[in-house]
Amino acid sequence: MDFSEFIGLLQEIFKVALSYFVSPSKRVFWLYLITSAIIAFVIFKASKTKGNFINYLFNRKVWLSTSAITDYLLILFNAIVKVVVLAPFFGFALYIAKSTEHFFVSKYGIVDTGFTNFQLILIYTILIVVLNDFITFILHYLMHKIPFLWEFHKVHHSARRLNPFTQYRIHPIELIINNLGEVFSKGILTGLFLFLAAGKISIITFLGVNILNFLFYFFGANLRHSHVKFKYFNFLEHILISPFQHQIHHSNNPAHYDTNLGSRFAFWDWMFGTLLTSKNVDKIGFGLGREEDNAYNTFSKNLITPFKNLPKAFFKKNT
Ligand SMILES: [Zn+2]
Ligand SMILES: [Zn+2]
Repeated sequence: MDFSEFIGLLQEIFKVALSYFVSPSKRVFWLYLITSAIIAFVIFKASKTKGNFINYLFNRKVWLSTSAITDYLLILFNAIVKVVVLAPFFGFALYIAKSTEHFFVSKYGIVDTGFTNFQLILIYTILIVVLNDFITFILHYLMHKIPFLWEFHKVHHSARRLNPFTQYRIHPIELIINNLGEVFSKGILTGLFLFLAAGKISIITFLGVNILNFLFYFFGANLRHSHVKFKYFNFLEHILISPFQHQIHHSNNPAHYDTNLGSRFAFWDWMFGTLLTSKNVDKIGFGLGREEDNAYNTFSKNLITPFKNLPKAFFKKNT
């Protein structure tokens, strides 16, 4: 690699890191950060919290904690992994979609489903979110239940303070696993609908984002990783995971471990017996618990400790 290639690579990495703020497909897109702040303001007022809202929202202990600095460094490191390792796979979803479509067409020919094009687009728009959420749930479930995967997923749970960027505090190995899961689920479903809609499929979007994802991001998704206790009423928390339910997922209280594994929908947790609603939980602290927190209190420890623990994890029985 010569110098100009190196500069090109640096630019690419910088672009990936910056895209988090300027791309509507990212949860920390500036507009979603603003709407989350507005919701936080409403909750702040409703809960009659004392003090100044700006100081409450931009609490230095949250945003500039060593935990938060580790989040930021992991985002930068993962941007490198995305450019160097994952970039070649991004075209792979399209390849899987085309291969899947080809497989069905060669088996069944062109079929008439009886649905109008709009109906197919509507079903596809919903299904792609539901299926992707289910795959995310299953992968997350396995990360908690299989000891060697848990070693990598601990990095997300080692955060002692939550801020919206904690969403991206994941070990590069988990980043790769999650991306591969998404490539396969999106690829296969898209291929199936390309077949059903005779190649003319699209998604209902807003700002270029699936409308359902847009709504999810717009209505406070950033508060999941925050100190703002945004809860839904109890029945809704059986359908949709509220921000506070994800905070429960990060709780360092063993009674809360392995609960609320869902991302958007709560009914997966309901079905798998891992649902815990807000009304059953009061105060929580974040992290892995006192004994383990120290093994993950720097950026480099978060990168290395999972590998150090691997041999032990391989010989441990599933929990
Ligand atoms: Zn988890
Ligand atoms: Zn989280």
